[in-house]
Amino acid sequence: MEHVDFLVIGGGAAGLSAALGAAEAGRSVLLCERGTLLGGILNQCLHEGFGRALFGEDLTGPEFAARLIPALQNSSAQVLTQTSVLSLSPDQTALLSGRAGLRRIRFDRCILAAGCREKTFASLGIAGTRPAGIFTAGTAQKLVNLGGHSVGDRILILGSGDIGQIMARHFVESGRAVVALLEQADHVGGMARNRRECLEAYRIPVLLRTTVDEILGTGRIRGVTARNLDTGRRWEISCDTLVTALGLLPDQTLCRSLLVKGQLPSWLRLSGNCESVHDIVDSVVREAYALGAASW
Ligand SMILES: Cc1cc2nc3c(=O)[nH]c(=O)nc-3n(C[C@H](O)[C@H](O)[C@H](O)COP(=O)(O)OP(=O)(O)OC[C@H]3O[C@@H](n4cnc5c(N)ncnc54)[C@H](O)[C@@H]3O)c2cc1C
Repeated sequence: MEHVDFLVIGGGAAGLSAALGAAEAGRSVLLCERGTLLGGILNQCLHEGFGRALFGEDLTGPEFAARLIPALQNSSAQVLTQTSVLSLSPDQTALLSGRAGLRRIRFDRCILAAGCREKTFASLGIAGTRPAGIFTAGTAQKLVNLGGHSVGDRILILGSGDIGQIMARHFVESGRAVVALLEQADHVGGMARNRRECLEAYRIPVLLRTTVDEILGTGRIRGVTARNLDTGRRWEISCDTLVTALGLLPDQTLCRSLLVKGQLPSWLRLSGNCESVHDIVDSVVREAYALGAASW
């Protein structure tokens, strides 16, 4: 069975940086990325705002990724794209599924940098049917930015996470109407800079203390019943698309079965958004590189 000093799972900013840190510290490294491209979430973020701290520049996500990837490719690390890690075992082996099929490898240390997942609309348990036209903000971003698709023309956004705010700006810039952004809290979430640069600059109507009670429509969503959480008032908002920006959760699926009394085994560390959701990529890069380079 093949053996490496470090197995790094995930080829986003965290995995790329952790693998580089470990390779530059003289370890044998294998990085597995299930997608076809390295860069992770950076690839679908076409807006600027990456690298202000690290490079003193305002880069797009792909531009930022292009600063990280060559360093890893020029290092001794082995990189496999289109390769998913299906499971990690307590005997420090991993099951990989890649272009050549299934194989198991042995490792001394593992850095799990699998990123995060979006909270889904289904998790809210809202009444009504489930017609077409309902997307999480990340899925909408991927469809629009990577697929070149349109998700709709009259868009309602539920939740004020950063991705929803960035997408609200994108929709307005591309000639779509953002009917409103609804937020159940009494303040908008996300980073102050997104509130300024996306919501305020583009005059997106924001309704605080407001939620969606019911989805209206059968084949395609035609609107929602909104409710004010303080007054209880309910009213209909017409839209052809609902985008949910309900927040992100670290994706720790692969390590759940390895926890003993809530603790990770000593050979496993989490990095980047898989450890905790990071708003700014520069800190992900710094922390992940240091983790890869450290002795533990
Ligand atoms: C919409 C959005 C906008 C942002 N905007 C900014 C901004 O303007 N400025 C800024 O500085 N930061 C921004 N950030 C934050 C920053 O981009 C992220 O914190 C950072 O890129 C996260 O990197 P990561 O490697 O932890 O996760 P990811 O980039 O999500 O990478 C995880 C990778 O792991 C892979 N993977 C998962 N499971 C497996 C498996 N089992 N096997 C193999 N591979 C696997 C995935 O395919 C993915 O490529 C933004 C984030 C988002 C989501």
